[in-house]
Amino acid sequence: MSIQNIDSPVTTGIYIDGEVREAAGGKTYAIHNPARPDELVGHAASATVEDVDAAMKAAHAAFPAWAALSYAERAAMLMKIADELVADQEELDYRSRLFCREHGKVIKETQLEMTRLGDRFRLSASYAERLAEDEHLPGPPFDTIITRQPRGVATLIVPWNWPLSILGAKLPQALIAGNTVVIKPSHNSALAPSMTIHKIASLLPPGVVNVLTGSASEIGDALVTHPLTRFINFTGSVGVGRHVMKMAADNITPVTLELGGNDAAIICEDAELDAGAFMRMYMGTFMSSGQICMALKRLYVHRSRYDEVVDGLTEVCERMVIGDGLLPETNMGPVNNEKQHRIIKGMIEQARAAGQDVRECGQVPDEELYAKGYFQKPTLVFDPDQSLDIVREEQFGPALPIMPYDTDDEVVAKANDSNFGLCSSVWTKDRDRATSIARRLEAGYTYLNAHGPAAQDGRGPFGGFKQSGIGRNLGYEGVLQFQEYHSISSQPGWLL
Ligand code: NAP
Ligand code: MG
Repeated sequence: MSIQNIDSPVTTGIYIDGEVREAAGGKTYAIHNPARPDELVGHAASATVEDVDAAMKAAHAAFPAWAALSYAERAAMLMKIADELVADQEELDYRSRLFCREHGKVIKETQLEMTRLGDRFRLSASYAERLAEDEHLPGPPFDTIITRQPRGVATLIVPWNWPLSILGAKLPQALIAGNTVVIKPSHNSALAPSMTIHKIASLLPPGVVNVLTGSASEIGDALVTHPLTRFINFTGSVGVGRHVMKMAADNITPVTLELGGNDAAIICEDAELDAGAFMRMYMGTFMSSGQICMALKRLYVHRSRYDEVVDGLTEVCERMVIGDGLLPETNMGPVNNEKQHRIIKGMIEQARAAGQDVRECGQVPDEELYAKGYFQKPTLVFDPDQSLDIVREEQFGPALPIMPYDTDDEVVAKANDSNFGLCSSVWTKDRDRATSIARRLEAGYTYLNAHGPAAQDGRGPFGGFKQSGIGRNLGYEGVLQFQEYHSISSQPGWLL
């Protein structure tokens, strides 16, 4: 069987008030395979402002009954969803293939995203008992109960790069906290994510989960400024995050923003550099063709180990097979879309034009496919000038600058010299040194001797310093973002 057109094109609808619908006006748009841009994968509904209003009203109507359930009751429903998400292997296989074809990422990763989503439902459900506890402050001067309430309708906006994992960092948290939601996946990866969310929504009372696909220019502002939206949880680029925050100001709607990153990794002179370490460095950088907010994007290596890291990482990159993500032998698929492809190629070209040492690695079994699709080989840029875009900006593609440093103070200053502050990593055998360097880094998360999603502990709050965002997702703290504090107090000795 040819891997092309293995499944026929699919059409997905929007989901409002317990049912799949066509968009008002009946329009859809086409999604093509980034490995083979002439291959149609399917059509997704193009929602309109009218649909935004209907989804908000449905979520608003469903809110009181959902909020009135106990945490334990909501947790039981989340656990059931987690089970159902992985119950039907045939359906999972189908959606993993669809996801792979519309997104470009390798099939193993689409399968991982599917299971990770269920795990994140279980994690949120596990907080039920803790959430049910109010804090009691007996007087004098007053008796006070600090309680929390859900906010209402939450708008969840998801990017294309890791749509299901990122959904798993907001949807179960919103639900366990007692909110109802309207979700907007990215137009660049809408089919498998929509089908997955429809399944989740069908296991909940009508109106609790609603989903709209389509163009952000058509529905983005309506979603953010709708008067029934009480909270916006956005993941995406700094530019759109800034716009969302400005629009949200109209109704003083609170926002959580998970934005871009330009993560620094620091390889100390005493780091353990075995084959496993180089593989973790490779995965932390090039997983999902580098299109991960928390990917390693600047590699700083102590000068005494610089040549060893360059050789070790080059050797791993050279082994990698670049091609169609559906093939089991492929290690890295294409970049997701034409715009992102242009950006990453432009940064590499800029480095080359400036006379930098650039090496494109890896094996390409099908040159014709490579030429037509949005491919870029894993690329290393050796000791580049610090002013280049590949160093200063978020590349969000498969290219990595590697730079030597001499002292801890110097490398901490370089790592922090960025408008971003999402994640970072420190690689050393010395635990005290690892934590003392980590505590000086301006980043929301620091991995030790690893980097990226494979090493992330979902129990920890996740988010960025500086322009990498506001607020936190995941962990218990990620659930609290979806609630308002409410103090109830009396004269001392009366309430408690
Ligand atoms: P993006 O262009 O900012 O889009 C993010 C989401 O916002 C998409 O669903 C997009 O819809 C939607 N959107 C666009 N304009 C909007 C508007 N005016 N109002 C409301 N929503 C709007 O980002 P992207 O290119 O999809 O994702 C890549 C970026 O996300 C990178 O910078 C990456 O670092 C960041 N990211 C951050 C995290 C994190 O946790 N910190 C995680 C993953 C990705 P359309 O796609 O349909 O236009
Ligand atoms: Mg960069």
